[in-house]
Amino acid sequence: MLEPEQLLYVAQEHGSVSAGIRALGIDPAHVDAFEDAKSRLDLRQGNFEQTYEHVRRFRQAAFERHDDWIYASIARIMKSGVSRVIVQIAPAQIDAYRWALGAIPGSASRLRAIVGIFRNQQSSRTERALALLHDPDVHGVDIIGAEERNDSEPFFTSLLDRLLDIAANKELILRIHAGEGFLGRRGIGNVNMYLRSIAQRAADERIRRLRVIIAHAVYIDDIAETTQLLNSLRCKTNVVVNVNPLSNVVFRAVSIDNMKSIAALQLPRDLLHVGTDNIGTLAENMTVARLLAAGQAARAAAQARRFVGQVQ
Ligand SMILES: [Zn+2]
Repeated sequence: MLEPEQLLYVAQEHGSVSAGIRALGIDPAHVDAFEDAKSRLDLRQGNFEQTYEHVRRFRQAAFERHDDWIYASIARIMKSGVSRVIVQIAPAQIDAYRWALGAIPGSASRLRAIVGIFRNQQSSRTERALALLHDPDVHGVDIIGAEERNDSEPFFTSLLDRLLDIAANKELILRIHAGEGFLGRRGIGNVNMYLRSIAQRAADERIRRLRVIIAHAVYIDDIAETTQLLNSLRCKTNVVVNVNPLSNVVFRAVSIDNMKSIAALQLPRDLLHVGTDNIGTLAENMTVARLLAAGQAARAAAQARRFVGQVQ
């Protein structure tokens, strides 16, 4: 939710990046950090790991104004006209999120907040996130973070068991960013591990109360197994794949000229959803995803090139 790209949208509403940042009242030193991070999202520059570090530093700096960011982000979502939107929040943002819900008419019925949990990380932050699932304003979890290796199966299965306990009393969204292919080369076993772990709980009735969203799924070890697991799981629970094509291009999971791997699963339409992962707008991502689904990879690449250019 609080990505530099979103600040960029806020900035665009005010006519320029600098004007937008001034409007948010962010310290000039943080503006410099942001400008640096933004310029380093340029696909042509070489050191992507350093870019990620710059973006991370900017986010930390910007948290000082995070109430304003949340308000601005939600106000922007409400203008989009989309009827139901899932937004990811950090545990520490819950008060600001509630404040924004109260201040923006109609937002509570259209938004579903899910709270971010870092992959493989058993920490007090993870515990805070899980505790928030009992809050009526929070609707699930989002497993996030750069996918730098194959994720831990024991961590996920114990998390899943705790989610199922809560799901006995409340329907939950479980979104997992997996197969995003961070820098195009890490975490290739993750999509299979997550789906297999969920499928192992298929006999548990509470699994029906989970809405499972695999976000990305472009970097996969075993596509045949993935397709089979998705098809068997859809009888047991609500499972979809959420493609985010522009995010996959910007974070180099796929090259802009080889976007075919995004469509490799050949999912039936009801399993395929489109998201943004905070890169580009929903409409832009849908345009690219539709072209990919229609087998028009070259046109999809051309569109993506145009849209990513606008994000930079
Ligand atoms: Zn992601």
